[in-house]
Amino acid sequence: MFTDKEDFKVQFVDKLKTLQGKSIEEASKLDKYQALSALIRDVISKKWVDTNDRYKKTVEKQVYYFSVEFLIGRLLGSNLLNLDVQGICAEGLSELGIDLNELEQQETDAGLGNGGLGRLAACFLDSLASLNLPGHGCGIRYKYGLFEQKIVNGYQVENPDNWLKNSYVWEFRKADKAVKVRFNGTVRTDYSGREPKFIHEGYDTVLAVPYDIPVLGYKSDTVNTLRLWSAEVAEEQFNLSSFNKGDYNQGLEYRYAVEAISEILYPEDSYYGGRVLRLKQEYFFVSAGIQSIIRRFKRHYQSLHNLTDHVAVHINDTHPALCVPELMRVLIDEEGFGWDEAWRITSNTISYTNHTIMPEALEKWPTEIFQSLLPRLFMIVAEINERFCKELWNHYPGDWEKIRHMAIIADGYVKMANLAVVGSYSVNGVAKIHTEILKKEVMRDFYLHYPYKFNNKTNGITHRRWLLKSNPKLASLITNQIGPSWIYHPTDLRNLCRYAHDSAFQHQIEAIKRDNKVKLADYIKNKYQIVVNVNSIFDVQVKRIHAYKRQLLNVLHIMYLYNRLLDDPDLLITPRTFIFAGKAAPGYYLAKQTIKLINAVAQRVNNDVRIKDKLKVVFLENYSVSLAEIIFAAADVSEQISTASKEASGTGNMKFMMNGAVTCGTLDGANIEIRDEVCDANIVIFGLTADEVLNYYQTGTYKSIDIYHSDEALKRVIDQLTNDFLAVSPDEFQSIRDGLLHNDEYFVLKDFAAYQAAQQKIENCFNVPEIWARMCINNIAYSGKFSSDRTISEYAIGIWKIRPFLI
Ligand SMILES: *Cc1c(COP(=O)(O)O)cnc(C)c1O
Repeated sequence: MFTDKEDFKVQFVDKLKTLQGKSIEEASKLDKYQALSALIRDVISKKWVDTNDRYKKTVEKQVYYFSVEFLIGRLLGSNLLNLDVQGICAEGLSELGIDLNELEQQETDAGLGNGGLGRLAACFLDSLASLNLPGHGCGIRYKYGLFEQKIVNGYQVENPDNWLKNSYVWEFRKADKAVKVRFNGTVRTDYSGREPKFIHEGYDTVLAVPYDIPVLGYKSDTVNTLRLWSAEVAEEQFNLSSFNKGDYNQGLEYRYAVEAISEILYPEDSYYGGRVLRLKQEYFFVSAGIQSIIRRFKRHYQSLHNLTDHVAVHINDTHPALCVPELMRVLIDEEGFGWDEAWRITSNTISYTNHTIMPEALEKWPTEIFQSLLPRLFMIVAEINERFCKELWNHYPGDWEKIRHMAIIADGYVKMANLAVVGSYSVNGVAKIHTEILKKEVMRDFYLHYPYKFNNKTNGITHRRWLLKSNPKLASLITNQIGPSWIYHPTDLRNLCRYAHDSAFQHQIEAIKRDNKVKLADYIKNKYQIVVNVNSIFDVQVKRIHAYKRQLLNVLHIMYLYNRLLDDPDLLITPRTFIFAGKAAPGYYLAKQTIKLINAVAQRVNNDVRIKDKLKVVFLENYSVSLAEIIFAAADVSEQISTASKEASGTGNMKFMMNGAVTCGTLDGANIEIRDEVCDANIVIFGLTADEVLNYYQTGTYKSIDIYHSDEALKRVIDQLTNDFLAVSPDEFQSIRDGLLHNDEYFVLKDFAAYQAAQQKIENCFNVPEIWARMCINNIAYSGKFSSDRTISEYAIGIWKIRPFLI
């Protein structure tokens, strides 16, 4: 570690020479980024070894968080912040003529996730380490992260995200800790001993090699581990393979097939694609993770009987649900446990978070595929299912319908959510309303059977990345006003509410928001040559593009406003800049057409001199963590307009709030709890409630066509989708129009009038600066509840039973 600025400068220049063989004058920005990161990596590694030594010597319980996604974003900035050397480095570099911000931008985002679920996993790791909790991540080291999005002629185009191109400084390959994962083959039962033995034969072995990334706590000595597994050809398989027989091509094919397992992240969000490779990925990282936990455990303890006292395994959604049968397999086949004891251990070690109630997102694997890929695991799942169904039969004799619905294997499928609920001791939803819907609707039978398993843990975000790091000016203003305690105790932000009416403070808040808006406006101007008015309302919807998130509702409303201006160019409306960003799954036609529609509307609106720049529409390409950091800080309005009941929690809503944006939203997910915190005066809520939506689904009484015929302005907008209003072929948006008029599954037309009124209310509030500033301050003040530190403390106490661990 460097002792001061001068020492840092010496070490940095030295690192440039030893690592890159270059002087400062010769080095590129990338060289300098890599040298700085390498220097920081050295500092971190020493602390990491210390933490691991402490963990080795303790019996403290550890948690392993299994997730198929970790959307961690850039790490240099957050590592500098956590080590508390940001100031020294920025000043030292500046004296060397280098801008630290520019170096930070050299880092490619580790985009190993689709959206909210993956970002949640990243925020949780940050909170675990910052609270000195012994908790580690377990996932997949995808060679290609989520695709890079470009917009060409208004359409999304996907390019591969080759994030490892320049080598990745923050990972440590641990070849000696590799484990073997087995696929395919057959299982023979050997009855010669006292207990039958199950022998897996003729399998293919894949080598799982861990790449460890250190996870630092904020100004703490704790450095936890994110372990990401990479698939490689196992030596023995390689020797056996066709390579030696001279069939080079077959050998190469085999290599490709193995490496394919950790090649790409599936770009689907809230959708189950049913691809075999995905099932391979899931078993690959689950088996590797469980084996490595057990191997480590056995170095400390003679017996696995007490595993539950020292290890908690958490599964983030059902993708890692194979943890249940895999832990059973290891305990029974490798450690010699009987079924009942193995089941007691497994079902008291694993806990599960549900992330969605949407049927199209629920994983279920065809039994033949499952059985042929994972023959031994299938036997175990079948046994779990059989025992569970017997238990159900005893409770509900004759109720076949209920039993079929709850069974793990039914109708030719293995149902992963059912497996996860049966095999774990805790099942949690991610916001109050979501947990209630789980209990009352989607998992009602399971709730009645296992009421004690169900609990809520409302999601959170790390206030360190999403405020302290990404909005430094706001962070220092807050600290000036109420002191620094909020950094450790984010609910202390509440002290700001005393200044909600203080006009001096209001002006300071406004000035910072304006600075951040200028920064975003510069980004937009440089990248897209679009000039936006920083005095306009920055109205922002950034998230995955999905029908349930209703980007369509937003666009239709923009078209409506535009029509009003065309009818009356002198209409007094407050200028608005509508900002969108988000990726669509490459196979999701409607979502991709929504992007095209946003861009077609932008094209028309932005180039129409008649409306005198009162409206601007901007679609920012390639939404990612680092882009998100610029956007949230600059937002005035946070669009959280999902169809009520569909968004389990949302976390974008929390990031906006923490940066002083006002939510325009439905009573869905965590929006409800945001309203409960800020109260109705500081949020604009509209639209159907979840109960109303669910009731319409049940009764089938909603007819969108009636609304189309009764609301003239809305009819005009819908018709403009397919007449020559937009500069596209007239059938371009035919399917969007058809979807809206035929069943409108997401109640876009139903909520349109209420949304329009809500937007009018937003405008009225914005037009009175004192009111808007008050709303903005209250949002920041009451955002503390949504720190992931609160969420993680609840998991630690309520689910995992782990404690902070310090020397
Ligand atoms: C927070 C975040 C999300 C989740 O946004 P929602 O609005 O909750 O869907 C997705 N992607 C990125 C990059 C994020 O930072």
